[in-house]
Amino acid sequence: MSNMYASKRILVTGGAGFIGSHLCKRLVEEGNDVICLDNFFTGSKGNIEGLLDYHNFELIRHDVTEPILLEVDQIYNLACPASPVHYQYNPVKTIKTSVLGATNMLGLAKRVKARILQASTSEVYGNPAVHPQPEEYWGNVNPIGIRSCYDEGKRVAETLFFDYHRQNDVDIKVIRIFNTYGPNMNQNDGRVVSNFIVQALKGKDITIYGDGTQTRSFCYVDDLVEGMIRMMNSREGFTGPVNLGNPGEFTMLELAEKVISLTGSSSKIIYQPLPQDDPTQRKPVIDLAKKELGWEPTIMLDEGLKRTIEYFGSVVQVL
Ligand code: NAD
Ligand code: UDP
Repeated sequence: MSNMYASKRILVTGGAGFIGSHLCKRLVEEGNDVICLDNFFTGSKGNIEGLLDYHNFELIRHDVTEPILLEVDQIYNLACPASPVHYQYNPVKTIKTSVLGATNMLGLAKRVKARILQASTSEVYGNPAVHPQPEEYWGNVNPIGIRSCYDEGKRVAETLFFDYHRQNDVDIKVIRIFNTYGPNMNQNDGRVVSNFIVQALKGKDITIYGDGTQTRSFCYVDDLVEGMIRMMNSREGFTGPVNLGNPGEFTMLELAEKVISLTGSSSKIIYQPLPQDDPTQRKPVIDLAKKELGWEPTIMLDEGLKRTIEYFGSVVQVL
């Protein structure tokens, strides 16, 4: 693979997770010295198994809520459970991970003069009253609901990033990631794409929450990682926040039907209660990413689903 940028020392927190493992792989293959830091809450060694033999890859078991000192040039801060099931398991810990984690990583960036990128989320828009969502939209977030530990934690993390930038001149980059899917998602992740695919492959009922008319925009992980790396290496002074997502918008019913047809499954669709504060619609405006990063997704949902189904086909025990 061609090396677009000079080799760097790069820290990836949450590097053993779904997105982090893809990012680490790209960065290692491009010849960088990569340190993957993870507490293995939702990540796994299996995700980064293939990287452990590389001389330019290191793994540290560490919790971002505790400070750490490392000499690096760039920090990608991804540590945080991303699936509602997992971030709601211990909500207080989730807030600490976002807020103390961001504080510790920003402190590290300040001390060693590293550039730092925050993996923020479309969840900062909450249940959006503006559709589609541009970066200027401030969001519609419930501060006391069951999603708040994640949403508000990520919002405070963004605030910390901009305050460290204004107060201490830390070189920050903030991306807002929309629903991303692909290989290396845990089969028990709980998010919709992995749930539907695993259910379809096992011939189990496909669980739609609510009436299935809520929408999401799904980005294939390779596209996202390309956007993340472009953002990290974007021009001096461009902080974002910038939306990274695929503007294709689908209802959960459409997604279920696609998964059933692509897997050829005999699974039936069943309807379960909609969780509290579940956003009704989600679709990014990506004009800023196009203009500043020359980035837009290239892998559309059908193709991305095919690749993800192939992955799950190799790891899921089909009865
Ligand atoms: P994931 O759960 O697979 O990965 C998160 C990783 O962080 C895991 O490896 C986990 O073990 C690690 N982690 C959690 N708490 C930690 C802590 N306190 N200290 C150290 N490590 C910790 O989720 P993902 O989908 O790969 O998401 C990665 C990042 O991207 C997260 O910050 C998430 O909020 C953000 N994001 C993801 C999506 C998406 O659709 N996948 C959307 C928006 C934002
Ligand atoms: N969802 C669903 N069935 C599932 C899992 C999720 O219908 O088995 C719905 C969920 O209620 C939400 C959408 O799919 O409306 C996306 O959920 P996910 O947890 O993937 O992400 P988020 O809600 O954080 O966007």
